Amino acid sequence: MRSFVAEPMTYGKMFLVGDAAHIITPMGAKGMNLAVADAYLLARAIVAAERDGDVSGLAAYSPACLRRTWDYQEFSRWYAEMVHEAGDDSQAGAFRRKLALARLDRLFSSPAAAAAFADLMAGTEVTLG
Ligand SMILES: Cc1cc2nc3c(=O)[nH]c(=O)nc-3n(C[C@H](O)[C@H](O)[C@H](O)COP(=O)(O)OP(=O)(O)OC[C@H]3O[C@@H](n4cnc5c(N)ncnc54)[C@H](O)[C@@H]3O)c2cc1C
Repeated sequence: MRSFVAEPMTYGKMFLVGDAAHIITPMGAKGMNLAVADAYLLARAIVAAERDGDVSGLAAYSPACLRRTWDYQEFSRWYAEMVHEAGDDSQAGAFRRKLALARLDRLFSSPAAAAAFADLMAGTEVTLG
């Protein structure tokens, strides 16, 4: 599955937003959410720069978005490997399959792991500032 992140998400006065900056595996429903979060931050930064002359939001735009993007890239990849990594018939494939099953089992046996999963899935840790 194709994934990429353009770093930094700015070049001079050009600001990349959403899928133009990052493509994420279709696990966890994060693509649109990341795009909306980028647009929200950039809109606020542009208003602050144009209305108040405060360019700090524009300077902070790329690092703030990249932090969230990599957080969700990692989650989506981890999730995809857990539910789709069936492995092949090789010894290594069987080993990977067992790892994926252990990850899945942990979500049902460990309340802490389940809570962390729910938090990432729902995106409740995201603060838009
Ligand atoms: C099948 C599928 C299911 C998905 N499901 C989910 C989900 O459940 N949850 C989730 O969060 N994300 C989901 N996504 C991801 C989500 O759709 C994208 O991450 C999101 O739409 C990105 O928004 P964007 O505005 O960056 O780009 P886009 O939505 O692609 O918008 C770009 C727009 O620019 C237009 N455009 C392109 N070139 C030009 C041009 N030269 N001139 C003028 N206009 C142009 C395009 O027509 C398009 O309207 C899914 C994606 C796919 C393909």
